Amino acid sequence: MANQEEIFKKVVSHAKEYGFIFPSSEIYDGLAAVYDYGQLGTELKNNIKQYWWRAMVQYHENIVGIDSAIFMHPRIWKASGHVDAFNDPLIDNKDSKKRYRADVLIEDHIAKIEEKINKECEKAHKRFGDAFDRQQFVTTNARVLEQQKQIDEIRAKYAELMNANDLVGLKQLILDLGIVCPVSGTRNWTDVRQFNLMFATKMGSVIDDSDTLYLRPETAQGIFVNFLNVQKSGRMKIPFGIAQIGKAFRNEIVARQFIFRMREFEQMEMQFFVRPGTELDWFNHWKEERLKWHLALGIPAEKYRYHDHEKLAHYANAATDIEFEFPFGFKELEGIHSRTDFDLSRHSEFSGKKLQYFDSELNESYTPYVIETSIGVDRTFLAIFSHALKDETLPDGSVRTLLSLPPVLAPYKAAILPLVKKDGLPEKAREIIDMLKYDFMLQYDEKDAIGRRYRRQDAIGTPYCITVDNDTIVDRNTEGRANDNYNTVTVRDRDTMQQQRIPIENLRTFLHEHIQPIR
Ligand code: ATP
Repeated sequence: MANQEEIFKKVVSHAKEYGFIFPSSEIYDGLAAVYDYGQLGTELKNNIKQYWWRAMVQYHENIVGIDSAIFMHPRIWKASGHVDAFNDPLIDNKDSKKRYRADVLIEDHIAKIEEKINKECEKAHKRFGDAFDRQQFVTTNARVLEQQKQIDEIRAKYAELMNANDLVGLKQLILDLGIVCPVSGTRNWTDVRQFNLMFATKMGSVIDDSDTLYLRPETAQGIFVNFLNVQKSGRMKIPFGIAQIGKAFRNEIVARQFIFRMREFEQMEMQFFVRPGTELDWFNHWKEERLKWHLALGIPAEKYRYHDHEKLAHYANAATDIEFEFPFGFKELEGIHSRTDFDLSRHSEFSGKKLQYFDSELNESYTPYVIETSIGVDRTFLAIFSHALKDETLPDGSVRTLLSLPPVLAPYKAAILPLVKKDGLPEKAREIIDMLKYDFMLQYDEKDAIGRRYRRQDAIGTPYCITVDNDTIVDRNTEGRANDNYNTVTVRDRDTMQQQRIPIENLRTFLHEHIQPIR
C-alpha cells in the first residue's frame, strides 16, 4: 500500500491531470492557497452543492435558502465579534522562519499519540486475532490508558489556556510537550501572537477609515441580518431554518493541504432558529442528521467521527465537529454549533432594530436560539474525491485507476461511445446523446480503442459507458434473420465492469433509476 503522503500526492496530481482542480493563476506561478475548479471539478462541486441544497432545503418544508451579498455593512463584523476576536494564535520557528498555528501544532502532537494507540491496537489485533475487542482493549490496556490520559490532559489544558486567552501559557505548553518545528527540528519558538483572519478592502472612491469593508469570513452573518426579512416575507414559524451556499474568505496563516485550507473557499451553512431552552435537543438532532447525510454517500462510517469541543467559541453553548479521515488524518469537515441567541441579540444591539419572534403558541416574543450546521464545499469535495480515487488490480493483473464517485455526484453520468468511428455508429451515438442530454450530463468519445476509452471514464468517475456497435444499427443479419440486439446498446458499469444489453428506449429510465438523488 502506498503511504499516505503518496496517496495525497496522487489525489492532487489526478485532480489536475483530469481537469478537476488547477492552482490559481498557474501561468504566473500560482497564488498561495487559492485554487480554480476545472471543467470536471466544477461539475462535481455543483453536484455536491445541489446534493446538500436538496437535503436541506428541498426535503424540509421549514428550511428556505437565500443568497446574500459578500459585501456587508462593516458594523456587522463588530457585532459578530469577528473584528475583535476572529483570531488564530500563531507562532514562528526562529530557525526555519516557518509560521504555524499554535493550536494546530498541539492537535498534530495529539494525533501522534493517537497514532501510537492505533499501533498498539493493531499489534494486539494480530496477537488476539478474531477475539480482539478494541473497546475492551483501549479501556483496560495500561499503556493505552496512559496515552489516552495524556491526550485528555493536553486537551483540557489547551482549552483552559484558550478560554483565558493566555498566550504565554500556550507557548509554555508547546515547550512542555517538546513540540519541534517539522522543518528545522528545533524548539526555538517565538512568542504566540493573535492574528486576525479577515481580509479588508475599501469601497467607493473616498479612501478613509469609514470605508473599510471585510470580505465575509463566513456566510452565517448574511443569514442573521436577514432573519426578519425571511421570517416575515416567508411567514416562517419557529422552528425554521435559513440555508445559504457561498464564498467565504480567511487570511489563513498556514494554508496547506491543497483545498483543505484555502484563503478563498465556499461554505454551505444552515442556521436553524428555535425556542430558547430547546436548543440542545435541536443540536443533537442536527448532529445526527448531518452525519446521516454524509453516510448516505456510501462512504464507510469508520471514515467519520465526532469531535465534541471542549473549548467553546464565545457565542456557543455546545459544539461538535464531524471529522473525516483525509489522506493526512482525521480533520474537521463540518461544524455543528449551538450559537444561543448571541448573534441575533448582538445585531439587535448594534443595529438598534429588534430581532425577535412572536410565538403565537406561547403568546410571547423572544430572541430565538440558533443551531448552525456549517460545512465546507471544498473539504467535502476533497473528502469524496480522495476516498473515491484508487488503483485497482484486476483479475488479469493489470491496474486501473478508478474514481468511484457516488453516481449522483459524478461529473458525467454516462459516456456514449461508438465502437468504431464509421458505419453510421457515430451518428447513432449522437442520436442517443440528443435523446438523453436534457436529463443527464453526457460525454461523447470516439478516439482510441474501446478499452482505453473505458479507462478514461473510470478515471473521471463516469458511472456508465454506453457503447453503440453494429448490432445496435443492423436489424437483420446477412442471412436475413432478425437481430435480437437491434436498437440495443451495451451498458458497462464502472465499478463492477459488468456489461448488459439494454434497449435504447429504456436508457433514460435505466439511468434515472441508477443515478437517483440520495435520500
Ligand atoms: P479549522 O479549525 O479547520 O480552521 P474552523 O473551525 O475555523 O476550521 P468553521 O469556522 O467552523 O471552521 O467553518 C465551517 C466549515 O468551513 C469547516 O468545517 C470547513 O469545512 C470549512 N472551512 C473553514 N475554513 C476553511 C478554509 N480555510 N478552507 C476551506 N474550508 C474551510
